[in-house]
Amino acid sequence: MVEASKIYHRYDKNSGYALSNINFIIERGEFVFLVGPSGAGKSTLLKMIIREIIPTKGILKVFGHDVARMPRHRVPYLRRNIGMVFQDFRLLEERTAFENLAFAMRVTGASNRDIRRRVPYVLEMVGLPDKADARVCDLSGGEQQRIGLARAIINRPAMIIADEPTGNLDPDISFEIMHILRMINLRGTTVLVATHDREIVDRLKKRVIHLEQGRLTLDEEKGAYAGAL
Ligand code: ADP
Repeated sequence: MVEASKIYHRYDKNSGYALSNINFIIERGEFVFLVGPSGAGKSTLLKMIIREIIPTKGILKVFGHDVARMPRHRVPYLRRNIGMVFQDFRLLEERTAFENLAFAMRVTGASNRDIRRRVPYVLEMVGLPDKADARVCDLSGGEQQRIGLARAIINRPAMIIADEPTGNLDPDISFEIMHILRMINLRGTTVLVATHDREIVDRLKKRVIHLEQGRLTLDEEKGAYAGAL
């Protein structure tokens, strides 16, 4: 799904490397946490996977294609196959849950009929079957992030990338959000979560990739936030 070989990145010639010699493979169906202090390079790596930035050196393959050599017309196809979840939700706040999801489907050319069938199904999956007509701004933070998850999966992407998805949420709500991500993963979608949430990482016992100052310092199955002590 994602294969990084000897990736380096620097934002400009005079700055240091934001990423140095990063190597890993994420297989189809995996659930992976990406952890590390602020400035470690997590966002840089996520942006590379969706080809917002291109590695300075090294090769990053996503779905088998080298992102640096990908022709421009393939980029929308790449992004359509990756559902994004953000810390600040990035929903259309004045619109209803249904409208947010319908909009995400419509941009891919879905018919009204597909939309009417798919939206209630996905709302049910994230545990909000009764909120289709609620405006996003009237929902709680946890509910808004559930809509964020629903939007991420609405077009059946191969992979979900979540960037600090629980950063604005209380611990109990955070755990519910992570539970839904795990359920999505169990249905076959690859999940990559960048997080600072130590408790969740320790409880879930999934693969953890640690970044520190742009370097990959640890990559362990069933890991913990602090790593092997
Ligand atoms: P994290 O997501 O782990 O907090 P980032 O990937 O945002 O880390 O940052 C990694 C390094 O790259 C940091 O030193 C940061 O200052 C630098 N950096 C991030 N974005 C930019 C940018 N747009 N221009 C220049 N430097 C950047």
